[in-house]
Amino acid sequence: MTDLAAFAREKGVKYFMISFTDLFGGQRAKLVPAQAITDMARDGAGFAGFATWLDMTPAHPDMLAVPDPETVIQLPWKPEVAWVAANCVMEDEEVPQAPRNVLRALVAEAEKEGLRVKTGIEAEFFLLTPEGTKISDEADTAEKPCYDQQAVMRRYDVIAEICDYMLELGWGPYQNDHEDANGQFEMNWEFDDALVTADRHSFFKFMVKSVAEKHGLRATFMPKPIEGLTGNGCHAHISVWDLAGETNAFADPSKELGLSDKGRTFLGGIMKHATAMAAITNPTVNSYKRINAPRTLSGATWAPNTVTWTGNNRTHMVRVPGPGRFELRLPDGAANPYLLQAVIIAAGLSGIRSKASPGPRYDIDMYAEGHTVRDAPKLPLNMLDAIRALDADEELKEMMGTDFAASFIKKKREEWDSFVSHFSNWEREHTLDI
Ligand code: ADP
Ligand code: MG
Ligand code: MG
Ligand code: MG
Ligand code: MG
Repeated sequence: MTDLAAFAREKGVKYFMISFTDLFGGQRAKLVPAQAITDMARDGAGFAGFATWLDMTPAHPDMLAVPDPETVIQLPWKPEVAWVAANCVMEDEEVPQAPRNVLRALVAEAEKEGLRVKTGIEAEFFLLTPEGTKISDEADTAEKPCYDQQAVMRRYDVIAEICDYMLELGWGPYQNDHEDANGQFEMNWEFDDALVTADRHSFFKFMVKSVAEKHGLRATFMPKPIEGLTGNGCHAHISVWDLAGETNAFADPSKELGLSDKGRTFLGGIMKHATAMAAITNPTVNSYKRINAPRTLSGATWAPNTVTWTGNNRTHMVRVPGPGRFELRLPDGAANPYLLQAVIIAAGLSGIRSKASPGPRYDIDMYAEGHTVRDAPKLPLNMLDAIRALDADEELKEMMGTDFAASFIKKKREEWDSFVSHFSNWEREHTLDI
């Protein structure tokens, strides 16, 4: 177990950033001087829960964020500071709705079945001007900007700095590219245990935003930051292993697409719960401008609109790119890193337990021929539909934890109410002369 005080002495760390993630995905932290870390590591750093999105009142007792020392990362761009992920505790009990606790409980649930879920994510982002309204590179205007060699080199200083840091941190980054929208990028690193991936996903967002700011830019993971352009997905690649992490329980060369019975039933759970999952994988009002979107300027949205699966074909919600894993293309950049992993495990485990079938496989171009599929559910059309679908899915709520589900649904309904009570120009334009 890492001793944080010794870590500070050895690495020259002056401050620890004790960080937790709230229900809406916001990262909250206290900066604790290294001299005070021993007590904080034991007791946790104190927070007023009501001041964050955790469904608490001002009358709640102090919430303590207890660092998980194994997660500590010295900030490569500010080495005198180290970030450490924390678990939220109140009056000696784990806060049941705190996202990292939700995920830890599901990792333990999978372990009971002798399973270890491993995932990799593709957290796409845009580099915008500091006020966040325009793509930062004025020359980045190609109609098909994906893999644009010239444009990725114009942002080399930012991308290479982030990739160098991932190399230093030992994440195994292996490629970076300009993505399908002008101003959009993707950086890939190796998959790992779901909790490790969630911590890295959180840190990646923090790192990308910090490095972009350093270069006078603004990075955003917002699902659809620019109207008409491809949005920010956060695809998740998923496989399930034995507890030793040596045998991929999803791989079976004798089965369809190399996906074992376990993989197939896990996928069955994802398919069964997909419309409810969307409340978590696509958690914002803006998320629904990415899925179900009209064709983008580049020719395709690359986002799904229906609950369907297939082989190596990027027009469906689930793609099986090769044996022993599948890709969930539903999540977007607004997904909470911990809840994203948690809901994948929750839906998948419920599928394994109920031996769920993923249903028929469609090897068609969903964008061109989707209308021919009659028996697959459509994804929710907006955030309210998604919240209602989650609220109606008793099995998924139970798997995610009923306290979590109640808090999440309550806070998201409040967010929806705030959105619809907002008076927009659209309604004036469409209603004034009626
Ligand atoms: P895509 O073809 O979808 O763009 P990427 O190469 O961008 O794929 O991302 C693939 C992600 O999937 C990476 O994070 C990679 O480590 C991860 N991955 C590869 N194999 C597995 C596996 N067996 N289980 C889980 N994740 C995997
Ligand atoms: Mg105070
Ligand atoms: Mg990719
Ligand atoms: Mg991509
Ligand atoms: Mg992908």
